[in-house]
Amino acid sequence: MGAARPSRFIGTAASRGIRVSFEFFPPKTAEMEQSLWEAIGRLAPLQPNFVSVTYGAGGSTRERTHTTVKRILAETMLTPAAHLTCVAATRAEVDAVIAAYAQAGVRHIVALRGDPVGGIGERFSPHPGGYQNAADLVAGIKRQADIEVSVSAYPEKHPDSPSVVADIDMLKAKVDAGAARAITQFFFENSLYFRYLDRARSRGIEIPIVPGILPVQNFKQARNFAARAGATVPDWLAERFDGLEDDAATRKLIAAAVAAEQVLDLVDHGVADFHFYTMNRADLVYAICHLLGLRPDKERSQLPRPERDAPPAPAGERVEAKGA
Ligand SMILES: Cc1cc2nc3c(=O)[nH]c(=O)nc-3n(C[C@H](O)[C@H](O)[C@H](O)COP(=O)(O)OP(=O)(O)OC[C@H]3O[C@@H](n4cnc5c(N)ncnc54)[C@H](O)[C@@H]3O)c2cc1C
Repeated sequence: MGAARPSRFIGTAASRGIRVSFEFFPPKTAEMEQSLWEAIGRLAPLQPNFVSVTYGAGGSTRERTHTTVKRILAETMLTPAAHLTCVAATRAEVDAVIAAYAQAGVRHIVALRGDPVGGIGERFSPHPGGYQNAADLVAGIKRQADIEVSVSAYPEKHPDSPSVVADIDMLKAKVDAGAARAITQFFFENSLYFRYLDRARSRGIEIPIVPGILPVQNFKQARNFAARAGATVPDWLAERFDGLEDDAATRKLIAAAVAAEQVLDLVDHGVADFHFYTMNRADLVYAICHLLGLRPDKERSQLPRPERDAPPAPAGERVEAKGA
């Protein structure tokens, strides 16, 4: 018998050092914007470590990502992290986005290469005048501004990668360029994450490698995402959703149970940081965070920033909500 594990049922999230972050995507329509802000409003009182906003393929959401991040800065106490890709853009174009974020008060970027212009499965070729890959982008950000940088990690290897070793070499290059944290692609078998963690640690990678958790709100959609991301969908997961195509209420209960099982098993194995792919919906993520011991701090919810930050920041300066 191994040493007893700490009980998953005792103590608050804070006493166990549990920290969460939430990922959102920039909304396309007024209706989507409303659901995003409802989700942010519900999740913000859980005081995430940061919230990140994705960047559409090839920079297609550049303006919307920027607007969303700026609104988070202006109207909430949250610490935003802006995703940024370098595919299909010159260095000058990417540098202008970095400068705009720095000027707006953004202190955290999730730096990515991005998918090839022709879509996943095409061969990636860097823009001739652009950053060559994510490691090159991380170095560019660190040269330009005092901004924390997170990067991606792939427990099942990135589909472009010739081997697991090449994949971990790429993560090492991103760390050497200044990345402070890696966030993983989603996975459904925790053993894949722990195997990856072991490999990364043996390669001398010491930064936090935060598991990315995708609560399966929609099994069909999750299976499509997984196929594109090179993540496997185990048979047991398909079986759990089998026959529920027309039963949304039961699907939601199953989704909560599956995600809870995954997250609590990670907690049992000592994992304390979690990044949730929210798909701009709060319910499941809120429930899982509750299981993790997180409780809303109603005092620090969604009041406009200036009403809470006293004394007011001097013009042109932003008071940081909290360290990431
Ligand atoms: C947490 C997270 C957030 C994401 N957010 C976004 C987003 O907001 N917008 C978006 O468009 N996409 C996003 N993606 C997807 C990401 O852009 C794609 O997976 C993309 O194909 C790879 O980008 P990367 O930064 O992960 O690549 P990298 O880490 O640079 O590379 C991925 C793999 O490709 C291989 N590789 C790269 N370059 C070479 C080379 N020169 N030679 C050999 N092998 C190479 C390496 O093995 C490497 O592990 C996200 C992914 C994750 C995990």
